[in-house]
Amino acid sequence: MDILLLGPPGAGKGTQGALLSQRTGLPRFATGDLLRDAVARETPLGLDAKAIMESGGLVSDDIILGIVRDQLLLPSARDGVILDGVVRTVPQAEGVEALLSQLGRQLDRVIFLDVSDEEVLERIDRRRDLEDRADDAPEAVVRRLQAYRSQTAPVLAWYDDRIGVSRIPAQGSVEAVAERIAEVLEASS
Ligand code: AMP
Repeated sequence: MDILLLGPPGAGKGTQGALLSQRTGLPRFATGDLLRDAVARETPLGLDAKAIMESGGLVSDDIILGIVRDQLLLPSARDGVILDGVVRTVPQAEGVEALLSQLGRQLDRVIFLDVSDEEVLERIDRRRDLEDRADDAPEAVVRRLQAYRSQTAPVLAWYDDRIGVSRIPAQGSVEAVAERIAEVLEASS
């Protein structure tokens, strides 16, 4: 089963993706984590991505699709994956569709974690105190939200027109949101 998690920054994709991975046994691939790792290790990819990430912009579609292709070819991805924060532009949605189709697969479920702007800002404020993420700096957050609205929000309509999107209210406790996601997946299985 291939599952895609969508949502604004701070919606809880990472947390819910990790729980979903435990629950389903499917590996979770998060481009944000893979990029942060590349930045920390100062690989050529990391050196390219660092400034863009710190400013809150989006890394190029070509780079992202290269990462996704590598991840989908891993043996652990054979039975499906949880793609977390991976699709942020319509060209990425098209690219992921093409990569999966080369493997004879397609996304089974697109899950959108729906939170208000107010809640997003509160969550990122809290995360800033806990994690040391350069892209959680206030000016970078403004840019990330702008990138989300202009480039990622249209992805929802793209999936609505093709396979449909399960919209999950993502406020409340981590457990409550995880339960809502589980219900949606069970209803579709
Ligand atoms: P995240 O941890 O998912 O919030 O990602 C952190 C940062 O990595 C983002 O603000 C972007 O700069 C970059 N990034 C992660 N995933 C993508 C993607 N699919 N497309 C473009 N940039 C991405």
